[in-house]
Amino acid sequence: MDRSWMNARHLYEEYEKGVSVFLQYVKEKAKSMNGTYFCPCVRCLNQIRQDLGNLHDHLLMFGITRTYTVWTWHGEVLDQSMTSRGTNYVEEWFRLSTNLYLHENFNLNS
Ligand SMILES: [Zn+2]
Repeated sequence: MDRSWMNARHLYEEYEKGVSVFLQYVKEKAKSMNGTYFCPCVRCLNQIRQDLGNLHDHLLMFGITRTYTVWTWHGEVLDQSMTSRGTNYVEEWFRLSTNLYLHENFNLNS
């Protein structure tokens, strides 16, 4: 019996939680321009500004740029990365997002 969807669902929920944490971080730390922020999704690559609603949608639809482990575009300073948030948590989130989108791509191609 194929139960991989259960795993995917679990990954997705974990990833969604990570997105919420990121958006909360953005709200608290990042400088906005008329309520918009650089979007770290794989389409915008921190080059295009979006409002928080679009940030949320992009991260869920496209996934976060996986090299973006220190949130320098969103107010994070490299030296503080160990104390300003749980580094392990973020690494775990990136791992989840990698697994999730690999899984989805696999499904799309099969
Ligand atoms: Zn985006």
